[in-house]
Amino acid sequence: MPDPNGFLRYDRRLPARRPVPVRISDWREVYPPAGEELTREQATRCMDCGIPFCHDGCPLGNRIPDWNDLVRTGNWDAAVESLHATNNFPEFTGRLCPAPCEAACVLGIGGGQPVTIKQVEVEIADAAVARGGLRPRPVPAPTGRSVAVVGSGPAGLAAAQQLARAGHAVTVYERDDAIGGLLRYGIPDFKLEKQHIDRRLAQLAAEGVQFRTGVDVGVDVTAEQLRAEHDAVLLACGALQGRDTPETPGRQLRGVHQAMAHLVAANRVVAAAGDGRPALAVLPDGTPIDAAGKHVVIIGGGDTAADCLGVAHRQGAAGVHQLDLYPEPPQTRDAARDPWPTWPWVLRNYPAHEEGGERVFAVAVQEFVDDGTGQVKGVRIAEVSVEKRDGRRIVTPLPGSERELPADLVLLAIGFEGTEQQPLLEQFGVRRNAWGAVDARPDWQTDADGVFVAGDMHRGASLIVWAIAEGRAAAAAIHAYLGGVGELPAPVDPARQPLAAR
Ligand SMILES: Cc1cc2nc3c(=O)[nH]c(=O)nc-3n(C[C@H](O)[C@H](O)[C@H](O)COP(=O)(O)OP(=O)(O)OC[C@H]3O[C@@H](n4cnc5c(N)ncnc54)[C@H](O)[C@@H]3O)c2cc1C
Ligand code: SF4
Repeated sequence: MPDPNGFLRYDRRLPARRPVPVRISDWREVYPPAGEELTREQATRCMDCGIPFCHDGCPLGNRIPDWNDLVRTGNWDAAVESLHATNNFPEFTGRLCPAPCEAACVLGIGGGQPVTIKQVEVEIADAAVARGGLRPRPVPAPTGRSVAVVGSGPAGLAAAQQLARAGHAVTVYERDDAIGGLLRYGIPDFKLEKQHIDRRLAQLAAEGVQFRTGVDVGVDVTAEQLRAEHDAVLLACGALQGRDTPETPGRQLRGVHQAMAHLVAANRVVAAAGDGRPALAVLPDGTPIDAAGKHVVIIGGGDTAADCLGVAHRQGAAGVHQLDLYPEPPQTRDAARDPWPTWPWVLRNYPAHEEGGERVFAVAVQEFVDDGTGQVKGVRIAEVSVEKRDGRRIVTPLPGSERELPADLVLLAIGFEGTEQQPLLEQFGVRRNAWGAVDARPDWQTDADGVFVAGDMHRGASLIVWAIAEGRAAAAAIHAYLGGVGELPAPVDPARQPLAAR
């Protein structure tokens, strides 16, 4: 029986982040472990309200009040079991999820302080490692059916684990040199150290999942070959087509790059350096893309932009501006616009924002300025108003508001336009829709029979928690398609959307 008064005795508290000067001198995670005492105290704040809206906020349907109470009473092994019943990779979501569950927590009504659900989750996930490691489940009797998973991000990996545990032979194909999708080379180590991925991969391998890296499906192996070798195929190739701004004057200048080029280059040198101080980041052709000593301008206001900000400071940038087209959001939920328990539009301060840099809201780039040699030396911006007319976004510059910011390195973090156009699509006979995503039927199959889709490739650029939920659900559909015994859990269907007021 949970403590009904815990939230009256304890305020919401998170562990202190590592001090800024210390953490920007290395690439280690920003948050230290919370420790048992704080974690149990915070879990005690969950009153088990009876109608846990947090379940609906979490696409995985994590059994939050159950594991909060198990942590409160110190039943760590049972908490580990309960959490893994719905989430294959809580060490990823516990570190990286924006926690829509917390926005839906009953304690958050009327501006209250929700339970620190995500923090409790990561502590349980880490307890699993501390208490004997991520033990592989016993391999079941083989079904004789085999599945190819294309793409090794959280969607592909969740599906692979579910299918292997049901007895199917699973091979994950990844074109990169390492498994993990955006977790590996997109998201910096200060948000997710890579040993968490490696530990989980060891578990998947022990459960029978085969990994083939450096294989670009559609190029190194054809769709026809894959279909001949396997009974079903899951496409989980992500939504990695970065949005660009070709119409902005000066876009072709040296020093103007896609944000992902910067992040991947930085993450690769960190991976190569291990714990040592990494070398300068370069593109695959050797072009430097390091922020050391440079004035950096990051265009965009989301996760990717914040990650570039944190990387730029760790690389030793001289100064950083982060530009956002939209006005500064409010600090607290506007209940008329986003009533509880929906996800509110509020100012989100990532740890990277306390590390330095200046955020500039309601501005748009008018020109990337040439230094006369073809290298960018500045960014000319104007204050703007943004409105929606007939479903279209109209951006109007304010006359006389233009000014120039110094810039030796400009990073475009202005979103993604769906999955990449690549040979695999045509070979499998699947198309991108108007948003660049690949549609799924209610049973997760694409237009091609026996070819399923999940994660960002289906949903468009989204979140890890959605990728895992879709991977689990697609695995359930593939299991049924292959005539597997019993049912696998399917937390979402392809049409499922986040909680919304209308
Ligand atoms: C910089 C950045 C930071 C982010 N931070 C967060 C965060 O803090 N929290 C959060 O919840 N979400 C975050 N996200 C979003 C999150 O990473 C994605 O929603 C999630 O990784 C999607 O998982 P996925 O498995 O669908 O695809 P991905 O992780 O994109 O993996 C797709 C994989 O498919 C591979 N692939 C593609 N084509 C082929 C092919 N032809 N053959 C073989 N392999 C192929 C790719 O190489 C890639 O490894 C972030 C995204 C970015 C870009
Ligand atoms: S996965 Fe995300 S939404 Fe679900 S319980 Fe964890 S933090 Fe909350």
